[in-house]
Amino acid sequence: MSTSTVMVTGASGYIAGWIVKELLEAGHTVHATVRDPNKATSVDHLKAIAEQAPGTLKLFKADLLDADSFDAPLQGCDILMHTASPFVLEGFTDAYEALVRPAVEGTRHVLEAAKRCPTLKRVVLTSSVASVYGDNAEMKGKTAFTEADWNTTSSVDHNPYQYSKVAAEREAWKIHDTQDQWDLVTINPGMVYGPSLTRASNSASIDTLLQMGRGKLKTGVPALSYGVVDVREVAHAHVLAAFSPEAEGRYILVNRELSMLGIADILRKQFGNRYPFPRMQVPKAMVWLVGPMMGPVTRKFISRNVGHPIRFDNSRSQQLGVSYRPLTETFTDHFQQVLDDGLVRPR
Ligand code: NAP
Repeated sequence: MSTSTVMVTGASGYIAGWIVKELLEAGHTVHATVRDPNKATSVDHLKAIAEQAPGTLKLFKADLLDADSFDAPLQGCDILMHTASPFVLEGFTDAYEALVRPAVEGTRHVLEAAKRCPTLKRVVLTSSVASVYGDNAEMKGKTAFTEADWNTTSSVDHNPYQYSKVAAEREAWKIHDTQDQWDLVTINPGMVYGPSLTRASNSASIDTLLQMGRGKLKTGVPALSYGVVDVREVAHAHVLAAFSPEAEGRYILVNRELSMLGIADILRKQFGNRYPFPRMQVPKAMVWLVGPMMGPVTRKFISRNVGHPIRFDNSRSQQLGVSYRPLTETFTDHFQQVLDDGLVRPR
């Protein structure tokens, strides 16, 4: 098999770690961009993987807000995977600065640099189902969300993370349309779970499992359902999207829909009663009343999402070659990693 040189932005991240691993194990050269290549918690796990794998890892310093930082790592690359984007749901006061600006300006900076890179053939963008829909209530009258759907309801004030993703994906398609040297494929995952290769990621994916294991949700969870997918499938989809000549357009990556209580039920079955996993759903009226005081949710979010079912059509991802493992394996492996890494105290 011929090997490629692939740039991966945000290589320190939860999803990117698995992408870099798969690329290195297949013998490719990876130009990995991180904000701080000297920060051990961001890069040590990648270096350890590279030592065992046939591929070559080269680290580069780049920041989404620095327009010129992506030209050097792109040199000689035929594929670019743009995964970097903040995925945090709390801990900030200005959603535009924390989420939207890095997502949209970052995408513009990375893809404008891609236009200056003569060797580049394909760009794979880590988008999200957040750019497909904004709130579960939008399901009304549909059997499932598909790649033809776009989120038109999110804004800086309502669902700013979702807004950051749809605005960034729209920006990417806009820049793609100004050139014909590389094509663009987007991977649109649901909520990603599964073991992390790094203890250091701030990804909101990791937070939910920590909260369940540490008992923060033991009084109950809202009746909130979303599309769920394993991180290893998401990484593999990026690789398929990069190397399958026929890959084109958007691909929803969702194994199936699951409620928060459904996740807790899987964990309890595997790890028993000794962990304080939630056992019940809190009535919507109660969530509406106290939810905004407990976490980063608004009453508008609660009305439009809690108690609303959701469905996704994942047939395009299966045509791309993704096969989904049972979610029991996803959550078992994920919670075991959290225990092994000492992030939740074993009981
Ligand atoms: P993550 O672990 O927090 O990774 C995000 C990455 O973005 C980090 O490597 C971070 O780098 C980088 N980043 C953030 N701001 C940056 C900036 N200003 N300049 C350069 N890099 C910056 O989260 P993740 O879950 O793996 O998310 C990766 C991608 O998948 C994101 O685009 C996210 O929107 C998308 N996604 C995630 C999920 C999910 O459930 N996890 C679902 C759908 C889509 P540092 O290490 O320097 O902070």
